[in-house]
Amino acid sequence: MKRFLGAMNRLALALLAATMAAILVSAPANAQRRDKALEAALMAHVTELASDAYEGREPGTEGEAKTLRYLGRQWFDIGLESGTNDPANAWFAPVRLVAREPASSTAAFSRKGRRLFVPPGSIEVFTSGKRTLLENAPVLFLGRGVEDAGRAELAGRVALLLDDGRDNSDRQNALLKAGAAAVMTVLDGDRTLEQVKARRGRSGYALATEELGGDLEAFITAEGLDRVLADSGVTLASLTALAAEPGFAPRPVDLTVTLEATTRETRINTHNVIARLPGRRPEAGAVLLLAHWDHFGRCAEDAAENQICNGAIDNASGLAALTEIARRLADGPQLDRDVYFLATTAEEIGLLGAHAFAENPPLPLSQIVAAFNIDSFALAPRGTPLGIVGRGLTPLDDGIMAVAKAQKRKVVPGNAANAYIQRQDGWALLGHDVPTVMVSSSWSDLARVERFFETDYHRPTDQVKPGLDLSGTAEDVAFHVALVRHFADPKKVPSPAK
Ligand SMILES: [Zn+2]
Repeated sequence: MKRFLGAMNRLALALLAATMAAILVSAPANAQRRDKALEAALMAHVTELASDAYEGREPGTEGEAKTLRYLGRQWFDIGLESGTNDPANAWFAPVRLVAREPASSTAAFSRKGRRLFVPPGSIEVFTSGKRTLLENAPVLFLGRGVEDAGRAELAGRVALLLDDGRDNSDRQNALLKAGAAAVMTVLDGDRTLEQVKARRGRSGYALATEELGGDLEAFITAEGLDRVLADSGVTLASLTALAAEPGFAPRPVDLTVTLEATTRETRINTHNVIARLPGRRPEAGAVLLLAHWDHFGRCAEDAAENQICNGAIDNASGLAALTEIARRLADGPQLDRDVYFLATTAEEIGLLGAHAFAENPPLPLSQIVAAFNIDSFALAPRGTPLGIVGRGLTPLDDGIMAVAKAQKRKVVPGNAANAYIQRQDGWALLGHDVPTVMVSSSWSDLARVERFFETDYHRPTDQVKPGLDLSGTAEDVAFHVALVRHFADPKKVPSPAK
């Protein structure tokens, strides 16, 4: 009996020790309970949005339509309202993108009414508009400088510039602004016409709202110019020597030129998704949460077996987090401030959806007391401290630290995560003075982030696969719920001045 009791006691002690050891081992630094239901919900969103059916969520494709439908339905079911503030475009705010590339180029020179021969392949004309035509304009030689050229002298003329071997777009723009009808650069240095053309062909997408110019720029080879100057009394060499003389003044060249260029446009009609959780006191301002929905679509070479960049971490994980934060806030007590939920388009091609939101916002941007971006929130397991992208750049740090303390979350010291500041949507909003940060365990350890960049990032392998761990995402969701409750409270965070 005693022995037995003794054995019982030893067993009980061993069990107690084991239990305590288990508690010590499994207790994460933040001591929060693991929310497996939340992890499962996040995994369900990521699995859906990163499935091949969504074709890599490329703007303007069926993958976009599916993504918008999924988010719209989820957010509607959670109880959010449309946040576009535009009855004609509830939930989905149109964002129009355009990419332009040079399509055609023609140039003709004449002297005293006689057409001059230009060797093929020696001149290229570009316009910043759709189609621009300039007919029979006189030519004014400006050497390498523009200081002496007056508006009256430049008006209606083609400014002929010597190249200085590098990009001279500043000089060109100054001349166009000063009234030149076009700028023609002589490629008398190292740059070739092929290099100039290659550079022009590569301009990416931009918001279609941006003003179309109609500026004409031409580039002519040294041989090409010498050919059209034949029998004019000057050569490129004599003009170059002239430009080097002290007191050089712009000099008319005995030529007229007709230039025409057209641009091919590729347009994408895409959308931001904007929802709102109404607060009791919307006049007290708003909190904004955002995550980009877009990714790269079919991104691999045709021959590759796996062609789709599914973007599971980047950024299905962010959309999953955004959606589950919304659910918890909607299920909780009503907040004072409005909370806006924004899923941006075209982040991957230049933060364009975030720029579009900032340029055409559904509420005055000055009313946003805090904005939190959510990008690639699935890089770290639970128990990882938080990093702040944008630390020291907004008035939000004190509030974030207070919430971290209350939530028993550690925040890594220092501003190392700011290395990524320009690579995320928050950057576009910061440019419009919206206080925006990104707070996540994903961004606390640069070595971990760099490992992601070197492996799955922007590759078809960023997909749902064994080992995808959303336990850190779940903790970051819980943290953001607390964060939004804090910043939505005018007693804790004062309202912006009207
Ligand atoms: Zn990305």
